[in-house]
Amino acid sequence: LSLSHETYRLLQPLWDYMLLHHRPLISSPFFPVLLAFSSYLFFSIPFAVLDILGDRVPFFYQYKIQPDRKPTLGMMAKSFLTALYNHIFFVLPTVIIGVFILPLPTLPQDAPTLYEVFVDGLAMLLLFDTQYYIWHFIHHKHSQLYRWIHAIHHEYMAPFSWSTEQLSIPELMTVGLWSNQDPIILKCHPLTTWFTTVFSLWMSVEDHIGYDLPWALNHLVPFGLFGGAPAHDMHHQKPSSNYAPFFSHWDRIFGTAVPLKKKTLKKF
Ligand SMILES: [Zn+2]
Ligand SMILES: [Zn+2]
Repeated sequence: LSLSHETYRLLQPLWDYMLLHHRPLISSPFFPVLLAFSSYLFFSIPFAVLDILGDRVPFFYQYKIQPDRKPTLGMMAKSFLTALYNHIFFVLPTVIIGVFILPLPTLPQDAPTLYEVFVDGLAMLLLFDTQYYIWHFIHHKHSQLYRWIHAIHHEYMAPFSWSTEQLSIPELMTVGLWSNQDPIILKCHPLTTWFTTVFSLWMSVEDHIGYDLPWALNHLVPFGLFGGAPAHDMHHQKPSSNYAPFFSHWDRIFGTAVPLKKKTLKKF
């Protein structure tokens, strides 16, 4: 490789390091699940601490979207244990079955370029956003599908970080299937896929934190392209609105976008 070519692959040292020192881990079929679940844990914990502290930290509590609805420790434990149970008893066995029937993925020598990470990552997010929008719309319109598959996610009108993965087994498996198949369909580099996994987990948790933080993605990205916590919090208050998980375009196009009406705390 010439030097000029190398400069376009800024991630090559990272990728070389991973291949050299962590090949058994990153080539394991369990790695994507481990990455996704630990991202859910890692991103949820700080907001769980905030939820426990509540109005004792007014600096953050001023941004709480539904200040009159606080999650209890019991609600937090139920959400987290549901996610843990589903991963241990359904996701892991599915991965083990996959080991026997799916071909072993091979890791390329070249790292992706930053351009590839951005474009392929964006393509994955847009595809997933579209798939989930359609799935989500159908599961709110069909009463039996709603009752048996999606209702468990709507147990709480005010979401909190752990409730991100309070999902039924069919919903978790559907989302997991797309997360696995979309990078194959779009021919994404594994590193791009893993960055996107972590980023999409961040966006999913941010959807559910219950705080409209001024530095959240939906405020940083212009034109309201990202729905974020205000849009998804509204979905939990008014379930016939804001079906898209990440972006706002499908809800705008199909007229299901509803802006958040923020309740103000009387005390402040
Ligand atoms: Zn939700
Ligand atoms: Zn819903």
